[in-house]
Formats: sequence, C-alpha cells, structure tokens
Amino acid sequence: MITRFYSYLGSNRIKNYFWENSYLSLMVLKEFNTEQENKEIVKAYQQLLRSIRRAVTKEDKALIKSAFKLALEAHKNMRRKSGEPYIFHPLAVAQICAEEIGLGVTSVICALLHDTVEDTEITLELVQLKFGEKVARIIDGLTKISGVFDQPDRSIQAENFKKMLLTLSDDVRVILIKLADRLHNMRTLDSMSPKSQLKIASETAYVYAPLAHRLGLYALKSELEDLSTKYLQTENYTFVKNKLSETKIQRNKYIRTFIDPIEEQMENEGFNFEIKGRPKSIHSILNKMKSQNVQFEEVYDLFAIRIIIDSEFEREKSDCWRVYSIVTDNYTPNPDRLRDWVSTPKANGYESLHTTVMGPKGRWVEVQIRTKRMDEIAEKGFAAHWKYKEKAAAGQDSSLEGWIGRVREILENPDATALEFLDDFKLALYADEIFVFTPKGDLKKMPANATVLDFAFDIHSDIGLQCIGAKLNNKLVPINHKLNNGDQVEILTSSKQKPGEEWSNFVITAKAKSKIREYFKQIRLKASSMGKEILERKFKNAKISFTSDALNSLIKFYKLKSVSDLYYQLAQETIDRTKMDIESILANEHNKISDQNQPVKPKPAIPNVPNDVVVLSENEAAMEYGFAKCCNPIPGDEIFGFITIGEGVKIHRTSCSNAVALMSNYGYRIIKAKWAGGAAVSQKGFLSSIRVSGIDSVGIVSIITDIISKQLNINMKSISISSNEGTFEGNIFLEVHDTQQLENIINAIKEASNLISVQRVDLN
Ligand code: MN
Repeated sequence: MITRFYSYLGSNRIKNYFWENSYLSLMVLKEFNTEQENKEIVKAYQQLLRSIRRAVTKEDKALIKSAFKLALEAHKNMRRKSGEPYIFHPLAVAQICAEEIGLGVTSVICALLHDTVEDTEITLELVQLKFGEKVARIIDGLTKISGVFDQPDRSIQAENFKKMLLTLSDDVRVILIKLADRLHNMRTLDSMSPKSQLKIASETAYVYAPLAHRLGLYALKSELEDLSTKYLQTENYTFVKNKLSETKIQRNKYIRTFIDPIEEQMENEGFNFEIKGRPKSIHSILNKMKSQNVQFEEVYDLFAIRIIIDSEFEREKSDCWRVYSIVTDNYTPNPDRLRDWVSTPKANGYESLHTTVMGPKGRWVEVQIRTKRMDEIAEKGFAAHWKYKEKAAAGQDSSLEGWIGRVREILENPDATALEFLDDFKLALYADEIFVFTPKGDLKKMPANATVLDFAFDIHSDIGLQCIGAKLNNKLVPINHKLNNGDQVEILTSSKQKPGEEWSNFVITAKAKSKIREYFKQIRLKASSMGKEILERKFKNAKISFTSDALNSLIKFYKLKSVSDLYYQLAQETIDRTKMDIESILANEHNKISDQNQPVKPKPAIPNVPNDVVVLSENEAAMEYGFAKCCNPIPGDEIFGFITIGEGVKIHRTSCSNAVALMSNYGYRIIKAKWAGGAAVSQKGFLSSIRVSGIDSVGIVSIITDIISKQLNINMKSISISSNEGTFEGNIFLEVHDTQQLENIINAIKEASNLISVQRVDLN
C-alpha cells in the first residue's frame, strides 16, 4: 500500500527500510484520521475546481468529480511520508496542472488518477471504461515512465528514458503531468530521508529542469532548479537566500527609483502596463557567482525588471520596440546584451525583448519587455500556445514541433545505443540557440556553439560527410569554425572528402554526432570482415582450428577488447599479420592460464587518507574512503560519499561536475558524509589548485609566490606559469587546511594586483 515511496528508489535494501518505517508511521497516524482531515480534503478539492480557468461544462464537472472519487477510494488507506493522507498528492498535482501550467479538464482528470494504476488495485481497463481512450492512454504513459530512474543499471535507465521521450511525441501532456508530479514531490521533499533527497534532487537537476526549460515552462523550471539546489548545495542555497532577504528593502528602493521615470513616460504615451521587479532565482545567482568567480554583491544583474504591456496582436512588435525606446531614453543600454526574441522566437515559443541598461549608481539592470500574451507563454510554456493558436501567425507552433521532430530523429536512429542516445539527448536539452542564414536568406535555428560541420549535417547527411569548409559571410572558414548569430553560411563540399576520426570533436548536434558515428561503424564493419578473412587464412595455413578459445587467447595476447578489434587491427595492419605466430601465442597463453589457477590474494582498497577526516553515515561508517580526483574536496566544502566498486567510498564535492550525474544515475550508491572537524582535520594538509591569469608584467610570478609562501606561509607544491602575447596563465598546486585558508590566498593575490585574476579549479 505504500509502493509510492519506493517507486523513487533503487535497491531492495531501501525498499525494506521504507516498508518498516512507513509501517511505523502508519500505526501512529491512524489515530489522526479525523473529521478535520476529511474537511481539508474537501477544501483542497474545491480549490482545485476553482483553479481550472477554462470553461468547464456540467459533464466535465461530473467527470472530474468521478475521477476524484475514484482516486480517493483507491488511495484511502495510504499516507505520504509526511503523514498526510495520500490523496493530497494527486489533488496538488492536478492543481499545478490547472493553475501553473494552464492545462484543461482532461489533464486534471489524468493528474488525479496518475498514481492509481501503478500503486493501487485500479486497472487501466477500468480507467478506459470510465474516462475513455484518451485519458487511459495518458495514464498508461505516466505509469510507464514512473520508474525511469529506479533502475540501478545506467543502460536500463537510459532505455527507460528513451521510452519516456517516445511518449513525449505521443502526447506531450504525459510529460507535463509528470513535471507537475515532480514539482509537488520536490515541494514536499523535506519529509524524505536525506539519501532520497539527494537522489530525487539530482534527478530533477539532471533531467526534469532541462526538460521544463525546453518546453518553455520557465517559472516551473526555476522552481525545480531552486528546490534541487536547496538539497544539493544546502549551505550555498541558504547563504544566497539570506543575502536576498537582507538586501530586499534596499533592492526594492532601488528598483522604485529606476522605474519611476519609465512609468511616467509610459503613462503619458497611453500604455496599459504592469511593471514587476523580477526576483532572480537562487540557482542562477549561484551559477553566476561560480562561473564568474564573484561575490554575491558583484553579480551584476541582480536587478531585473519586467514590463508587461497590453497590446493588440497586430501591434505587439512595434509596441515592444516603443517601450524599448522609452527605457533607453532614460538609461544607456549595453549593446552586447540586446536580445530580440520578438522578431525570432526561441524554439520553445519564448518571445520577449531583453536589454541590460546602466541604472542609477552605475548598476546594470536587466529589462524584459513583452506583451501579456508573450508573458503567459513564457510562464506556462506552450500549453498557453494552444490558447492563442487561432490568433497566432501561421507557423509559430512549428518551432516546437520542429524540436519534437529532432528528438524523434534521435530516437529513430537505429544504431545508437541507449547510452549514446541519452548523451545526445542531453545535448539537445541544454543547447541555447543561434540564428543563421542559408545563402538564399532562409533562417535556420542551430544550437549555440554549433559549427560549420553541424550546419552541413543539418542540411543533409551526405553534405555533412563531404563538407570541406564554408563561405561565411563570403570569407572561407574551416569545418570546425563556430557559427555566430546572424552568419550567412554557404557549405562547400568535395566528392573526394572523407570524415576523419577527429570530426566527432568538431560537432555538437545530435544529428551530426550520430551520422559520423554511423559512418565509422560502417567503415569498421567492412574492415572487420576483411580482417576475419585474413585470420581464417592464417589459421588454415598453420593447420590450427579456428575456435573461440583460440581467438580469446589472441585477444588477450594483443591486449584487445573484442574479436572485432582484432579483425579491425589486422585489416588496418596495426597488427602485422606476417609476424603473427599463432602457434607460439596459443602455447604461451595456455601456460599463463594455468598459472592463474593459483589462488590470488585480493588487493586491499588503498585509502589515500587516514580514516579520521571524514565521517560517513552510520551504516557505512566503517568503510574505507578516499577523495575523488575529479573535484578534490577540502574541509569546508560540502561533500557526499559515493560507493565505488573495489575502491571503497570516494568523497566528492556536491558541486563536482560529475556529482549530478552520479547522484541521479547511481542514487542507491550515494551516502552522506561530513568533515570530522577537530585536530585530525585542522592539522592536515589537503592538495588544492588555483588558476591565475592576467596581464603580464615584470615580476608577476614572484609577486604571486611571495604572497603564498612568504606572507601566508603556505606550502606550494608546484607552479607553472606561461605567458603569451602580453598575458599570462598558470596553475599553482598548494597544500591547505580548508576552504577558508584557500579563500584567504585567493583574496590576498587579488588584493596585491588588479591585473591578476585568481580562481579555485578542480585538480584535473
Ligand atoms: Mn505522483
């Protein structure tokens, strides 16, 4: 009856944990199942009805009521981990669908029933009988994708994820309801165990937030990101949150002074409008602080406002530009930061005019200008599109279909394995867009950072395979040249051209990647069959039978991974067939195998630190651990443990670039870890690395080394600095006690010269 709890989770061990714990809470909570609760359920239901903004007929109402009753009955003995009756969850999910995504009656019904088929006695047949084919199909989709990340095996996960996306092109409401479900689970994540919090939060950051972004659900995406940050980087999150509330009054005052003159002028020109101070999300502030290595106060566009105007559909564009001109009459714009998504909307339908202007006191303020219609689409994604569809110009919705089409293209590539697919797909999710032109002047959307080669493959795979470069705005550029907004691209081809292995590094689009991969698979296939013939002949000449045992010995001898590698290398002549003496190789390998029959002592896991620096969560407290090389945590960093195969527990920073992937793919191997504190830690040195760069001047190296070794008395392990055309760049490895000490070093160097920029980097 409490399957819901463990449908998030991977292993049996955790499953049992929840069984026991939920059973306990059930015993206690039975007593609280009162009149009061029933009243609250009814209240939540009525609130849901009010939140449906579209016209609801009598029949619709009856259907919603019957869905509610069915769900209520089905979940009647279930409680959430928080202790409240389970029915509050589907009610909340339905409300998010109606109120925050703007979906209609069908989706509300589906949301109410979304957990019934999976977790209760209710069957899909019953749902179909009562609510029809459409609802049944959506519920079926929701049931199928519910366990996407429950599999410990990454390739099964990827396979499931593929399934999930197939339903996306089937009926996008499945994904929208899934997102609403996830949002409610994130909002109520506090009552889950810390371990599941990490897993669920990282899945959210890994897949769901980018998905919401792609579908243009910006408000939902921001909330998902902020909530996952809350659990993945608790300390940083709290820091920014407190900072924001500390500076709130001051910020509001500033925004007030900023908008006063704009407001006045807009009123004079007869606009109907609304101006909002836009709170920047905690996640995006943290990202800026990290990527630009700046303090909270230095995040330059903390101030952002949004001007939403009432405008006739036909006049939208000119009205937005009129407002732009009012804003820039008062404040000087930064020409590099003008974004015009009114003339060319983003693929997910986003339309808006963005500019960043210099406000009072020399502060940058981001201003977004849009109409009410654009605002609704931006907040609710393309669900709002449907509402405006009749009004919108033809072809406006095709951008989303174009995107779904691209996803379908990836899905239908028969050669890609599920794992490759997942990587390709993530590329497609994260990419921002640029606009480029064909020689005829047609506009094409490409992901940011796309190259000439990507563009060539986008036109046709044959053009991609024969691409030798391009004429870019009439200048010749190589195939790996990155495209910029507004470029006009003419692809040059040659029938003599052949792709090189390095080509896959020149492209970022999924289509180009998979076509290049496919090409090399074909080449390999041909070479392999040639290699096989060569080998068979050699066996025949040596009068040895061609068995898989013999082949395996050869593979071992040449230290290869597979038979096809062997064939391939023979065909390519990287293995010299004339020097290959099958007989002696086989004899040799045979002896080795009999040696190996001797018992082998298992290698102990070698920890690279004493076992008293980090405290692991209870169950794993006795395990050996070491620090991950990818992010090299030092005391003061937020950390977690990852159970590896054969190397004990590896400690990573929660901000490690591998962390999100690890946590969402192998959540069941994540354990809590914290620094032990005390003398054991404070006296130990930890290896850390900083990168310095800046304008080269005489003595720059000695300035830096002086600060570190003389003034701060810190052990410098190595330093490498190189200069190039008046600038320098280098890495310094240091031994420090904790993050505080590292920060002191960084600040001291920054203070010594404003020509030097310094930041902490991961060791590798
Ligand atoms: Mn649910």
